[in-house]
Amino acid sequence: MKKKEPAKKDSSKSGLKNNKKGATYIVSSGRAHHESKAADHFNPRTEGLQHISAFDNAMKQFDQAAALLKLTQSQTAMIKQHRRCTEVTLPVRMDDGTIQTFTGYRVQHNIARGPAKGGVRYHPQVSLDEVKALSFWMTFKCAVADIPMGGGKGGIIVDPGKLSLGELERLSRRFFSDLEDMFGPDRDVPAPDVNTTPQIMAWFMDTYSMHKREHLPAVVTGKPLEIGGSKGRVLATARGLQFTLRRAVAAHGEKMENLTVAVQGFGNVGGNAALLLHEDGCKIVAISDQFGAFQNPQGIDIPAVMKYAEANKGLKGLEKTKLATKMEKPDEILELKVDVLCPCALELVLTAKNAGKVKARYIAEGANGPCDSDADAILNKKGIFVIPDILCNAGGVVVSYFEWVQNRMGYYWPVERINSELEVMMNKAFDSVYETYMNYNTSMRIAAFMVAIKRVSVASELRGLYA
Ligand code: NAD
Repeated sequence: MKKKEPAKKDSSKSGLKNNKKGATYIVSSGRAHHESKAADHFNPRTEGLQHISAFDNAMKQFDQAAALLKLTQSQTAMIKQHRRCTEVTLPVRMDDGTIQTFTGYRVQHNIARGPAKGGVRYHPQVSLDEVKALSFWMTFKCAVADIPMGGGKGGIIVDPGKLSLGELERLSRRFFSDLEDMFGPDRDVPAPDVNTTPQIMAWFMDTYSMHKREHLPAVVTGKPLEIGGSKGRVLATARGLQFTLRRAVAAHGEKMENLTVAVQGFGNVGGNAALLLHEDGCKIVAISDQFGAFQNPQGIDIPAVMKYAEANKGLKGLEKTKLATKMEKPDEILELKVDVLCPCALELVLTAKNAGKVKARYIAEGANGPCDSDADAILNKKGIFVIPDILCNAGGVVVSYFEWVQNRMGYYWPVERINSELEVMMNKAFDSVYETYMNYNTSMRIAAFMVAIKRVSVASELRGLYA
């Protein structure tokens, strides 16, 4: 078994001393402010727009991992395809009295290991192909994290920013009631995704519970805390990134406080990851959001930026403070000479075009699908250690699973328990992937797929075919 090293270490690092007290956390630019209107959250980001190639990428990754596992044609047939794809037309009475129709989808990719799990996205670019791709990823993300759930995803083609709160509620309730037979705590458990909020999860849960004449909070996760949401969910994805990065760095005999970091995206995942890594003593030298990229080679005061971002709804104008200067070309944040690059915004930001210019030694994928397969090959060749999305950002779904468990127990855990159980699960997940990576001399991404595919395949075989 050969020991692999990430690309050469940069020696000039100094840890920041910071005050953890009073830090501001980013709830989400698109998810958690359940009191306010969805119009406030709409973030017309490009996530999901390149869904067809994201789906093709995912299929390629599956095929590579399946080949290394020597999966037979029958084993592949059992787990590669989607189990069920449903499309619904949703008529909604608008505030002006007219009726408009919207198209909604729910896809269940695989339920061999447990009920389907995955978010519902509201976006004008939602398509069945995109939802299929995302549900496929969920199957393997749940399996890498070893939670007893399968993969699902849903979506509605809508710009929620154009709906009133009442219209949004009627659309959400209609979606959930039309697809009610697919959902259930033991069938399929949705959650928030792009432009869907805890308030929308509350409406889903209420619709389902009213129809079933029972209080059934476990039918969705990502609910407001007051009606069965879990503590720790807001920071869970960023914490998962932090835990897996700590593990990767330790595996290479390094320390967090010696690392320089660039973070693309300053929303729920990126902003909170920047804060948590700053708390670990990393020096965050560059950050970005849809308004631009900002750098400070001395290290950015992340708690101060969090307060700025909260007050200014993003990083716009940050260069007018003393906190950081604005970079001329925002995408160059991906090419900075740093130890760790955290793409935490969009899909497919690293491609054949720019992967060769990446100078980071570690990449921690907070976003879903930030690298295409060409980029993957280039990054591997350069010896960059990539913590792949299905592992790196699985913290969110792990705490969603904890929410489901707590709902079923009717007993709620303190945040300390959530965080420590999350750490145990993320470390275990990292270790299984790392072991496979070492044993098979493959990339961390393919290793993650191998671990996940094996678990899903074994579950499918044990269950066998019904009829
Ligand atoms: P978010 O809406 O809270 O934040 C997205 C951030 O990206 C915002 O700061 C936005 O300004 C920024 N952004 C948009 N366009 C950009 C651009 N061109 N360049 C740089 N930044 C840009 O979303 P989020 O919840 O943080 O999700 C980010 C990514 O992480 C997505 O790929 C999402 O699917 C993935 N993810 C999120 C979670 C979660 O729990 N929130 C879990 C798993 C994966």
